[in-house]
Amino acid sequence: MLLGTSFLFHSVADSKSQPHMAFQMPQPSSPFDHPKADVILRSSDNVDFHIFKLFLSLASPFFEALFDIPQPSEEKLGDMEMKNGLPIIPVSEDSRTLDALLRFCYPCTLTQNPPLNHFKDVVNVLEAAKKYSLNEVEKAICEALFNPKILEVDSLRCFAVARRAHLHDQTIMAAKYSLREPLIPGWFEEIELVTAADLLALLTYHQKCGSALQQLHLSFSWIEQHYQNRNAVLWIYGEGTGRACGCPRAKVAKLFNGQPTLWWEEFMDATFQALKDKPCANTVHKMVEKTIEGVRRCNCHSCSPGIATVISGFTDLFVKQVNELVSEVDLPLRY
Ligand SMILES: [Zn+2]
Repeated sequence: MLLGTSFLFHSVADSKSQPHMAFQMPQPSSPFDHPKADVILRSSDNVDFHIFKLFLSLASPFFEALFDIPQPSEEKLGDMEMKNGLPIIPVSEDSRTLDALLRFCYPCTLTQNPPLNHFKDVVNVLEAAKKYSLNEVEKAICEALFNPKILEVDSLRCFAVARRAHLHDQTIMAAKYSLREPLIPGWFEEIELVTAADLLALLTYHQKCGSALQQLHLSFSWIEQHYQNRNAVLWIYGEGTGRACGCPRAKVAKLFNGQPTLWWEEFMDATFQALKDKPCANTVHKMVEKTIEGVRRCNCHSCSPGIATVISGFTDLFVKQVNELVSEVDLPLRY
């Protein structure tokens, strides 16, 4: 009796809970709930997306071929799961990924491209786009992700995503932007997407770029070759107004066999030190900004007033040299 009661109790509880759970199954959001859709894609977490075959066929040769397969005959229909008279095609992507992917495939009059703010989503959608030969979608995702604004902030995450998706050019581009980060970067979520071998390649590349730039410090011949004559850079000697100013002179640095100001020497020393850690043009720009502030503060009648103007041409030359040397360094990744 006790067992029976207990059994009955569990049976009632189970029979009530099952339909309740089914009722709570997640539903696709608009427009993937359209009543006139002609096929259902079922995500791995059991969300049924009601889809128009035409949109997917136009976007992907994979789907075009899939939907071209003749409809199963009456007797075979029994094997295929149906819902509301529509065939159900199960896919391995979860509903979050599928939703984003389908929004890329649908015309913009029905839905907009989804925002790609989470890198893990981007990885999943990119992988799905590749799997289903959604070439235009893949392109759109890459364009959204690999624009300078995102690369400047999230170069390492972009590197991880691009490498994982086997996007050669984007991987190289992201690696270049990652030179703005310290040689040993902070932890980032997508670091787990990167293999140890790829991370080693990225660190090696970073270090090589840093070392390559030091040759510009060992010899200032690149400055002399460009300007040809010390008169073209009198501001470096504190002689911008004609006579040598009172600023202290460099301890070691020489340029055209003359002695630059100490502030210029310190600017160059500090910049090359910073370039070891972040070997990129951005470092030069930042150090130039700092120097302009410092020189203005020293209130030298010769150096201070026009520093921002006279240093800008030199900055362009410096940045050009940095970019050229960095571009010669290979990223030792295996494909
Ligand atoms: Zn001065």
